[in-house]
Amino acid sequence: MLFMKKRRFSAALLIILIFLSGLISAGCKLPSTYGTKHGQKNIPPDDPPITTDLNIHFLELGNRYTGDSIYINYGEIDILIDAGSRTSSAAAIKAYIDEHIKDNKLEFVIATHGHQDHIAGFYSVNTYTGIFDSYEIGTIIDFPRTNSTTVTYNNYKTARDIAVASGAVHYTALQCYRNEGDAQRIYDLGDGVQLEILYNYYYENNTGSENDYSVCIRIIKDGNYFLFTGDLEKNGEDRLVDYYAEHHGGLGHAVLYKAGHHGSVTSSNEKLMAAITPEYVVVTACVGTAEYNASPAVVFPSQAFVNRVAPYTDKVYATSFVPDYANNVFTSFNGNITFSVQDDNFKILCSNNNLKLKETQWFINNRVIPNAWKSYLRRK
Ligand SMILES: [Zn+2]
Repeated sequence: MLFMKKRRFSAALLIILIFLSGLISAGCKLPSTYGTKHGQKNIPPDDPPITTDLNIHFLELGNRYTGDSIYINYGEIDILIDAGSRTSSAAAIKAYIDEHIKDNKLEFVIATHGHQDHIAGFYSVNTYTGIFDSYEIGTIIDFPRTNSTTVTYNNYKTARDIAVASGAVHYTALQCYRNEGDAQRIYDLGDGVQLEILYNYYYENNTGSENDYSVCIRIIKDGNYFLFTGDLEKNGEDRLVDYYAEHHGGLGHAVLYKAGHHGSVTSSNEKLMAAITPEYVVVTACVGTAEYNASPAVVFPSQAFVNRVAPYTDKVYATSFVPDYANNVFTSFNGNITFSVQDDNFKILCSNNNLKLKETQWFINNRVIPNAWKSYLRRK
């Protein structure tokens, strides 16, 4: 009797083992920590190091000034979009990049437009060695037009031209879009991952704001779009949507959207949001800063931006925090933000905390929660 029981137990164990091995050989995926459901608590910042193959990093800039610097690494390919916000940003950017870059080469450098908060870290000054002087530079893609005559812009241009004399290649975004000469609209980064330079009406029209001249790009992986529009404002956004609707079947859903112009009232307008239905939004800004405007509704990220993004997603994050601009008080908001892509799974990892904007004390104290985000809360 006892023998029979043992045999039945052994048979059951064998069946379980066969079942488990079948699952493994069939490539069964165990539950992943990737992806967040509405209301799910985010992954803590002390997660293990990222080992996935496409990472998009939104960097803090080492000072109280809002600006952009986005570092993308995919295998051996390293891309830097902008190097704001002041010359001191170069030190902060390099400290971060140097933790990831393997060969000291930036295969692509993209400068979106001629404003200081996007290009100040590219050139060297007495105290700081700029990005162009710190790495081997592959291809530089920048803005075809600018009205800028500032010292900052001229320093950028000089440093860019020296980089070209030292072996870098330089194209404007318009040359890329048109596939002129050796310039390419789409750069294959390997395994089907692409860097695509988008068309912007203001590449060849002088009537926009400086922000509207911004180079627009997207990274494409497995059919997913990650969209970067620099500081493009309403006129530029509307024309971008119209052009892609007319010529390319639409912009398509953006899994990731870098909030245009730091979450300003002038950007992330209804038409663009409806066209791209963003899923994750990262604001490169000093939250609460009075740098440009002290009006409570207008400081980054603006109430208007929040209202326009809210119907599509509540996964909104921001880099830095400047609660007292006048007294030079700055710290991290989410901190350095890494958007990590593994197959079709997406993950946000932040150096300070992984709170969504709506979960932060700053938001609770300074913003009116949109109805769409209230409904997300009810779903918790
Ligand atoms: Zn800017």
